[in-house]
Amino acid sequence: MLFRQYSKYLKDKYNETVYRIGVDGGFSCPNRGNNRHNPGCSYCDVYGVRAAYIGESFQPLEEQIRRSAAVMRKRYKAETFILYFQAYSSTFAPVDKLKKIYDHGLSLAKFVELVVSTRPDCINEKIADLLGSYVRDDFDVWVELGLQSAHDKTLDRINRGHDVKRFERAYHMLRARGIKVAVHLIFGLPDEDRPEILETVRYLAALKPDGVKFHNLHIPTGSPLYKEYEAGELSFPDSYRHMTYVADAIEMLPPETIIMRLTTDTPHQRHQLPGAFLNKSQVYDLLKKELSSRGTRQGSLYKE
Ligand code: SF4
Repeated sequence: MLFRQYSKYLKDKYNETVYRIGVDGGFSCPNRGNNRHNPGCSYCDVYGVRAAYIGESFQPLEEQIRRSAAVMRKRYKAETFILYFQAYSSTFAPVDKLKKIYDHGLSLAKFVELVVSTRPDCINEKIADLLGSYVRDDFDVWVELGLQSAHDKTLDRINRGHDVKRFERAYHMLRARGIKVAVHLIFGLPDEDRPEILETVRYLAALKPDGVKFHNLHIPTGSPLYKEYEAGELSFPDSYRHMTYVADAIEMLPPETIIMRLTTDTPHQRHQLPGAFLNKSQVYDLLKKELSSRGTRQGSLYKE
């Protein structure tokens, strides 16, 4: 095994294929205040982060879950699902409201896990307690936490609205309650090159995260970074360079960390840049070849 793949982890854990149902819980994010149309992180457009099948406008949870579960049952004969609050910052609400939304979502199908995607500044002790209250021996709770870069200068540059310390506080609050944490990183951010990327990965490896999602920088039409690109101020790593960053990162991460994503997906109608990029399975194949030719695997360069 060259690296610990998420799909294999799920298959081994549940002895069947388990499917994620990504939903929009109706949240915004503190970078935008209560109005989704305010500018946020400079690589994000007004739709926030979401899978294409969620659609671009908010639908009741019943409708979102019913529709996705029906498609997955028909297409894959799926019976078992993970509830994934994906869009925007899915802990950006008072705790009692969050509880109502999570409880309601979990009541709508047979879910074996709860996954919540959010920002470090949307985690506090009370929210961590609430998320921790769903953890059982047979029910995992994951939080997908955006770090993107371990450099405050970059976080500032892309208007993330939090620093690395804030990330670390949230990370430890969650882990202390038995919640699994998957960390998002973006490779190719403005003013970052291989040394900065490797420093970020080194920082993260020392925290031994449960999971990692790698993204190549995507710029949707309408995001603030797109304007920088038009002004000639940005360049992107191509597919091959991104794949070598991922290979470097995999070598440096602990062998136990689950690799949950290798590239970004932005629904094609919103995706502007980079124009040409290999698809997920092409990057996966290249990565396997790269690691094999280096004679390395996940954790080869990891130091406790
Ligand atoms: S990337 Fe996430 S945190 Fe940043 S503005 Fe978009 S929804 Fe908010």
